[in-house]
Amino acid sequence: MNSGILDDHPLEHCGLFGVYGVPAAAPLIFTGLFALQHRGQEGAGIVVSDGTQVSSAKGLGLVSEVFAGRPWDTLPGSIGIGHVRYSTTGASRVQNVQPLVVECVDGIWAVAHNGNLVNAARLRRMYQEAGAIFQTSTDSEVLVHLLADPMFRTRPGRVGRALGELKGAYSFLLMTRDCLMAARDPMGFRPLSIGRIGGAWVVASETCALRQTGAEFVRDVEPGELVIIDAGGLHSTRFADARAGHLSQCVFEVVYFARPDSRVFGSNVHQVRLQYGMRLAEEHPVDADIVIAVPDSGNSAALGYSRKSGIPMDFGFIRNHYVGRTFIMPQTDARSQGVDIKLSVLSEVVDGKRVVVVDDSIVRGTTAQRRVSSLRDAGAREIHMRISSPPTIHPCHFGIDFATEKELAAAQRGIDEIRTFIGADSLGYLSVDGLLSPFACRGNFCTACFTGDYRIPVDEASGKLGLETGQLSFGDLPVRKGTV
Ligand code: SF4
Repeated sequence: MNSGILDDHPLEHCGLFGVYGVPAAAPLIFTGLFALQHRGQEGAGIVVSDGTQVSSAKGLGLVSEVFAGRPWDTLPGSIGIGHVRYSTTGASRVQNVQPLVVECVDGIWAVAHNGNLVNAARLRRMYQEAGAIFQTSTDSEVLVHLLADPMFRTRPGRVGRALGELKGAYSFLLMTRDCLMAARDPMGFRPLSIGRIGGAWVVASETCALRQTGAEFVRDVEPGELVIIDAGGLHSTRFADARAGHLSQCVFEVVYFARPDSRVFGSNVHQVRLQYGMRLAEEHPVDADIVIAVPDSGNSAALGYSRKSGIPMDFGFIRNHYVGRTFIMPQTDARSQGVDIKLSVLSEVVDGKRVVVVDDSIVRGTTAQRRVSSLRDAGAREIHMRISSPPTIHPCHFGIDFATEKELAAAQRGIDEIRTFIGADSLGYLSVDGLLSPFACRGNFCTACFTGDYRIPVDEASGKLGLETGQLSFGDLPVRKGTV
């Protein structure tokens, strides 16, 4: 067992929240970031402008920890952007917490990024060889150097031209003293939505943050679109063509990352997960007494499985909401090694029953093994594991931190071997067809971690600390996978 690591789910990437035109931007951004906390728990930052002065605050930890006790009058201004971070590239240290703020010859720029740039190392080396100094080890900083590059700085459409140099997954928020900008990569990997609060504009990674700040959803930022919001209102420009049927929206956002109350890529997340559960019941039926979810991400799919199969749903696991992702169990005695501190089993519900357990994914398999074993200990007679996504076989290069390919259970084992490993009586995964079935345009989704179909060439040897150590060189290495 992984000593004390409680959950082997893929780790979220980052969350963005920006606002233009409210009397006090910082407290609103705080609320927006709080709603996006599930997208990154390592660090948080806010940058605001009052039209003259730019102020910022950032730190390591949860949003509530970073901004605890901070008087909002230290962050004055009506324009601002904020970021919650999980480090998909670059180490977890405060210099890497975003938004990045830099002073160029033409003024201050603040940048916040969600995603992963696959040509960052090549661009970084190019600028370093020309004498540029990088402040961070994140891939996001290359955009700052592109913006400062005279080749782009002196031309009209500078931001769009700079964005056009980037390859990979990105949703960006940018801010100058008097302007907010939002952009999404041409393949639309990560979500980004626009909302309104009265006469003010809000941009957020997920619509749950719009709702919780009192904003009304207006529309998504389109793939390949740069939205500029200033005193003249909202202006839309395109910096790249995006072709329907050739997008690469991350399906894992819908499977696991996004909150169920968000609308992502045009669909409500809860509704899609409900459909996954129903499809799972069709693809992998079983005689059982109850359906239970692994909370929280398995809840909607378990409900779908229950509705379709007619097997009643119950609460078999109770989650401790105060256990964060980075909680490490203290080293105690051997008896505590198998204890699941995040989820506790309700033996009154499962004892003597044939139980269907629904979860969203299996990564290493060690967590599923622990869950099955705790159900067995609580008296479950049969345990049938159902997973509302296909087997995760490949790593992600577009901003999600999975285990390495060697660690992925399904990359190393067949389904029956995984079933034996986790100790379940049966195991069924959703098919790739089922995964894409809720969407009208199936060709608009990335499924690379399930299928290996990377729509942008990637180097499998890269890791999240590549820019830290100087070993990463996506742009220069031979392409090993990819359809473009
Ligand atoms: S590889 Fe998987 S996690 Fe990564 S962008 Fe594609 S669907 Fe999302």
